[in-house]
Amino acid sequence: MKVTVFGTGYVGLVQGAVLADVGHDVVCVDIDAAKVAALQAGRVPIHEPGLAPIVQANQAAGRLRFTTGAAEGVAHGELIFLAVGTPPDEDGSADLQHVLAVARTIATHMAAPKTIVNKSTVPVGTADQVAEAVRAVLQQRGAPIAFEVVSNPEFLKEGAAVADCKRPDRIVIGTGSAAAEAQLRELYAPFNRNHDKIVVMDVKSAELTKYAANAMLATKISFINEIANLAERLGADIEAVRRGIGSDPRIGYHFIYPGVGYGGSCFPKDVKALIHTAKGVGFTPDVLLAVEQRNGAQRRVLAERIVAHYGGDVRGKTVAVWGLAFKPETDDMREAPSRALLQALWAAGAQVRAHDPVAMDEARRLFGERDDLVLCDTPLEALQGADCLAIVTEWKIFRVPDFDQMARLLKDRMVFDGRNLYEPAVLARHGLGYESIGRPGVA
Ligand code: NAD
Repeated sequence: MKVTVFGTGYVGLVQGAVLADVGHDVVCVDIDAAKVAALQAGRVPIHEPGLAPIVQANQAAGRLRFTTGAAEGVAHGELIFLAVGTPPDEDGSADLQHVLAVARTIATHMAAPKTIVNKSTVPVGTADQVAEAVRAVLQQRGAPIAFEVVSNPEFLKEGAAVADCKRPDRIVIGTGSAAAEAQLRELYAPFNRNHDKIVVMDVKSAELTKYAANAMLATKISFINEIANLAERLGADIEAVRRGIGSDPRIGYHFIYPGVGYGGSCFPKDVKALIHTAKGVGFTPDVLLAVEQRNGAQRRVLAERIVAHYGGDVRGKTVAVWGLAFKPETDDMREAPSRALLQALWAAGAQVRAHDPVAMDEARRLFGERDDLVLCDTPLEALQGADCLAIVTEWKIFRVPDFDQMARLLKDRMVFDGRNLYEPAVLARHGLGYESIGRPGVA
């Protein structure tokens, strides 16, 4: 099928590449000319395992093209995907300017019926707004062309986006149109062979499903962090508690890892947007408000620990930081807990030596040159001359470090672990002090 995708970010690029990979004819449109030029040259601007080879192979096969030309993109696709950003506005609501701009662009250029498929995460009612925006432009043009607006939220995980798109758990299609449903069933047929993963529903329910999914996952994280805080104060071990509750299939092991709070481009903004939506209809979302509050506090925990360890004064101290990306296997630092830690440490007068396996360029772009930050090429280099270590992202490479060398390099022989990567007894054996989340510390 002929498909156009507007937006070549984490969602649009991966979806476009995966659709091309099963044989669809895909054109990706982006307004970022530098990004499009890089993609045209076969360079993938984000770190996502397995993405570059399928982009390059499908480009070479002529099934995947990149352009800044909106008219060309609109003319190409019978299905047109919206995969542009929906960042939070100042009041927490989702900013729909990019979504509505693309809607108007489509309406400006379309000369034949189109099915507009929204993959961006958008509040309930957005499909109606998109339809209204398209209709208004078509009316101005005096061009009564038929179109449908379908909601098809995306559930991929950054760091596993290609695998998730190739083998989705479910494909949610929100539409009241049998014709649009049939088109999307045809599009996704290659991903739907083993058993039926397609869940068809009305548009509003599809829009809400995406927020409900992210809010549920954020709730699990804030819940376990709350229990971790309790465990610390009660002398219990959250890792034992986690295993104890995860074994109940009604609870499960996923997403109950204690840590330094959720981050990334989705959970914080989507929880905020859902709160905003709820308030907009006169409903107080007590659970969501608590989830957000706990997360805000949890993002401060590591910095507070470090400052408390040094008696309230970290001026002149150098903290090594392992992990800058908001989670492993991505270079994305949007709303990353590392940023909260670094800002808090800098505000308190500490210096930082940081390493991340893939987010170094992103860190350079975000922080620029500063006296209180040294970006280091290896984990060990970050430890050189540092007083203590803080671990923020659970990259595999951090899991089995050389503890003896760590103990030699860290002046204060102290590790603050925001991801519970190590056994406290092991660090004690190597003469390292250790504070983690929700477990007894080792002084
Ligand atoms: P992103 O910021 O990585 O990419 C968005 C892209 O859209 C950018 O390249 C930008 O230049 C482009 N763009 C903006 N306006 C445009 C226009 N008028 N025409 C063409 N391109 C335009 O965003 P993302 O992370 O891919 O997220 C996109 C949407 O998908 C968001 O609503 C997000 O909430 C949702 N989502 C994201 C994820 C994720 O893990 N990143 C997962 C599921 C859903």
